[in-house]
Amino acid sequence: LHKSYGGVRAVDGVDLSLREGEFVTLLGPSGCGKSTTLRLVAGLERTTKGRIELFGQVVADSERGLSLPPNQRAIGMVFQSYALWPHMTALDNVAFPLRNGKAPDRSRGSRVKDGRKDGKDATVALAMAALERVKCDHLRDRYPGEMSGGQQQRVALARAIVHAPPLVLLDEPLSNLDAGLRRDLRLELRRLQESVGFTALYVTHDQTEALAMSDRVVLMRDGRVEQVATPQRLFEWPATPYAARFIGDHNVLDGEIVDVDPAGIASVRTAAGLVRARAPREEVEAAVGADCVVAIRTDRVEIQELKTDDATDADGTADGVVVGSAYNGAYVDMVVATGETQQVMVRDYSGAPASPRGARVRLRVLGETVLTEVGSAGAGGS
Ligand code: ADP
Repeated sequence: LHKSYGGVRAVDGVDLSLREGEFVTLLGPSGCGKSTTLRLVAGLERTTKGRIELFGQVVADSERGLSLPPNQRAIGMVFQSYALWPHMTALDNVAFPLRNGKAPDRSRGSRVKDGRKDGKDATVALAMAALERVKCDHLRDRYPGEMSGGQQQRVALARAIVHAPPLVLLDEPLSNLDAGLRRDLRLELRRLQESVGFTALYVTHDQTEALAMSDRVVLMRDGRVEQVATPQRLFEWPATPYAARFIGDHNVLDGEIVDVDPAGIASVRTAAGLVRARAPREEVEAAVGADCVVAIRTDRVEIQELKTDDATDADGTADGVVVGSAYNGAYVDMVVATGETQQVMVRDYSGAPASPRGARVRLRVLGETVLTEVGSAGAGGS
């Protein structure tokens, strides 16, 4: 898929395939092309170049000049702004797509082909069933102005699924909600998606949300796909320095390969000491002496305060000075300066208080880390 606005390549060759019933998230920083990709699938934008097929039906094809409007695609949509009609009750909002014949007639598994034919009672019953699914049936007669943000978003979700679309597109639907509610709704939304069984294409810039909800995450960068992986794979084995930085909780450090063992595990000298690193990509040929970039999870760095009589430079460790710390409840983050310019973030779950600023500490990296790049230094510090 390609989409340009004047000279801006908003979507620049995205190629994706979703399985039925899968929850896939487009993740990336603002401006990387997530919403545009979603809007192309929805039919709210025309592709500059490319083809979109939904459930066996081609809905957009630039070569044929084809682009079906949203109401002829088998989709439901939820946006960041709840987009409920303010002059309609919750029930009328949810029933609206049925009453206005907006139910796509290709929607498979749908109990309604055309809401108008099924009569008023059937429409109300379906709308109520959708409201019950999102636990908002008690709000049926309220207007949007009389509901909280979370309730409005639930009602918007009910409206999106009322005609049982096989694909639901969600663009940052939880971003306007406060943190606690966002966490609850994440789980609820995932449960709803699994029980109703629709395929979900979800957009967010929040990596925690993407990791928590998705079967697969599509990490985007400048209109392109950077990495597609399960949440665990993406978190444990980010394929590139960009992926490691974006997923967060990683130190992305320059290093030098000092040794490679027969199993292909490299020993890499970094600001966090000597680390064992595995390359996730077969094509990466680790070479002794080469510069590289490694991604080290912050919770895999062990920290120990040094006493004055401790010997310096123990094997494989890096000594440094604590330059900052932040208490986060379950863990403490500490920033340690090693060498002149490099800083290493350490996440400590031990429950011990943070070492004070200025304390001399010794770092040791536990387990294996990820080699995200070989042959080009330039991670640029931590
Ligand atoms: P994201 O959803 O990841 O924040 P978008 O898909 O909204 O990113 O935008 C991708 C790029 O396309 C950005 O550079 C944005 O400024 C540009 N863009 C999006 N919509 C338009 C538009 N209607 N006209 C011009 N440029 C646009």
